[in-house]
Amino acid sequence: MKLPQRANKSVSTIQQVFENCVQQSAAGVLDILYPPACLVCSAWLQAGCLCQQCINTFRPVPNPLCSWCGSPCPSSDILCRHCRQTGAPPFHWSVAAGVYEGALRQSIHCLKYRRKTALAAPLGRAIYDAAVHSPLAEQNTDMVVPLPLSAARRAQRGFNQAELLALAFCKQSGLPLCTGSLVRSGRGPSQTKFGIEQRRKNIQGLFMVRCISRVEGKTILLIDDVITTTATVREAAGALMDAGAKRVLVAAAARAV
Ligand SMILES: [Zn+2]
Ligand SMILES: [Zn+2]
Repeated sequence: MKLPQRANKSVSTIQQVFENCVQQSAAGVLDILYPPACLVCSAWLQAGCLCQQCINTFRPVPNPLCSWCGSPCPSSDILCRHCRQTGAPPFHWSVAAGVYEGALRQSIHCLKYRRKTALAAPLGRAIYDAAVHSPLAEQNTDMVVPLPLSAARRAQRGFNQAELLALAFCKQSGLPLCTGSLVRSGRGPSQTKFGIEQRRKNIQGLFMVRCISRVEGKTILLIDDVITTTATVREAAGALMDAGAKRVLVAAAARAV
């Protein structure tokens, strides 16, 4: 009984080695036929999906920044328009890898709308690089929470881009990823054509915390793909704070300015 088992085992090992060789050779042939290219500018790459030249064009969010929420604001003000209109945000600070333009905007579009999910890795690393050079680095963050999509939107897209970015961020930082405790109850109307006040009203009550014990007393880093008016992250951070979170921080791949 033992011998055939060992023989079978060695056969399967040989088969596995053979299959691995075939797979590696196939990957090698594919790399020669279709060399990896930057998904934004099509430059040939040794590895990865976004070239360093494209990453180098990410423009940092310009100063001065709102002293309450970290958004850019006119030089004459110490608070941004949103904070002046709606008050202090329920999050401590926000940071983005760059301004929502050029190669950064294109790579976020490729990730979300062309399903190039491999782009989450370099974008997550860019968020991490921005966070470690910001006031966020001084906080004792307990965990990372991606901004949730509604169940309908997630099913339609097949993935939540913020979750992929958060996962890539966690691989860099070593922080735990917490999904499922913050949920988005509905899709809500499209926000693009509304002003700050209307946006705020539209998304009130859109987020809820499903598992309070996981967020209670925790310092949470909320991750999104793009911050526009901060209305959405304010609402999500507010739900986490209402559920007993100690502090909420926000990081995103890009910020519209
Ligand atoms: Zn490129
Ligand atoms: Zn502000």
